[in-house]
Amino acid sequence: MAILNPTYNQLQSSYVFRHVNQKAAEFVSNNPDKPVLKMGVGNTTLPLAPMVVSALHEAVNKLADASTYSGYGDELGEASLRSALADYYHKAYGVALSADEFVLSDGAKSDTANIPSIFTPGTTVAVQNPVYPVYVESNVALGNQIQYMPCTSETGFVPSAPDSAVDIMYLCSPNNPTGTVATREQLQELVDYANKNSTVLVFDAAYSAFVRDESLPRSIYEIPGAETCAIEVNSFSKWAGFTGVRLAWTIVPEALVTGGSNPGEVLARWRRRQLIYFNGPSNIAQAGGLAALTETGISECDSLVDYYLENAHYIKKSLEKSGLEVYGGDNSPYIWVKTPKSLTSWEFFDKLLDHTQVVTTPGVGFGSEGEGYVRFSAFASLETTHDAMDRIRTYLSSTDET
Ligand SMILES: *Cc1c(COP(=O)(O)O)cnc(C)c1O
Repeated sequence: MAILNPTYNQLQSSYVFRHVNQKAAEFVSNNPDKPVLKMGVGNTTLPLAPMVVSALHEAVNKLADASTYSGYGDELGEASLRSALADYYHKAYGVALSADEFVLSDGAKSDTANIPSIFTPGTTVAVQNPVYPVYVESNVALGNQIQYMPCTSETGFVPSAPDSAVDIMYLCSPNNPTGTVATREQLQELVDYANKNSTVLVFDAAYSAFVRDESLPRSIYEIPGAETCAIEVNSFSKWAGFTGVRLAWTIVPEALVTGGSNPGEVLARWRRRQLIYFNGPSNIAQAGGLAALTETGISECDSLVDYYLENAHYIKKSLEKSGLEVYGGDNSPYIWVKTPKSLTSWEFFDKLLDHTQVVTTPGVGFGSEGEGYVRFSAFASLETTHDAMDRIRTYLSSTDET
């Protein structure tokens, strides 16, 4: 008799984005004449970079011809792409990693969710609060213990090292949902904690391309000591618009050790895990990724990020002008906004939807510390962004909400 895994019963029933979409859809069906502006969801909207588009076309043409056709490739990702990534880390971050320390995948979401499965079940996992929900849900499904690290505006929503020893700690910087970036000093404290306590840091750098302030770290390996305690996950999704194409990578340094393991053992275990459950990313997607990492590709993809960053700066300035308390938006596509008049996240969400038809994401959906905030995303078009900000400015100046 097959019995459903009971850990899944511990999952919270509703995923925040689904509920937001339901509310927006309800509003549209009740008010068909009022178009809503979606400023909540973290999904890219710009078309792919020209360099990437031609590489994707070429990859499809190769598959259409018997003399250039290829089937299964390296399950861990093509060697050329892993080398290109290692070169990129060296040039862009001054970080020395070997191509063998990179394992390619179909997404940072799946990698961050799957990494704990190579460690002993029932492990204690620390996450930021507020948090990207994937870390929590995947670890609950695995039967792991979640420990929340409260993150408040006083520390830029970066947690301080826990008092006790945890086995795994997730960090996301630039942060989703708060849009803030951890400083070198803050990350150094957490790296030192991890090395001291044999904690594995899982560093989600999905938004690293949005960091334009040179003083802020973009890879955890810019922090001394990180190679012995940190796994880094990153993706082509937000930088190159691969949210639908699907391509990502995880770095497990040879030097990483934990709980009595030898150097190279954690890397070998992650590779082994991928060999069991995954057959490698799409060869078409990998051709696109290789093109994105050429000199022209990098500059074209960076331009996509420039566009979103301009939106982010506009949102931040505009909401500040309306008297709201605003975080993020400088080196990140997310703007984290304190609700006026101590409204709850959902109350402010509803007011914005009813009075301005702007859809945000209620902060409480990311954890209890997100209560009293909403998240704006900068991934909408420039026109939608300006329109949304005009409506909110008009609404807030016509009420006594702020
Ligand atoms: C969007 C996002 C990712 C990217 O996931 P993919 O599966 O590579 O598309 C990872 N982490 C965070 C925090 C994100 O917001």
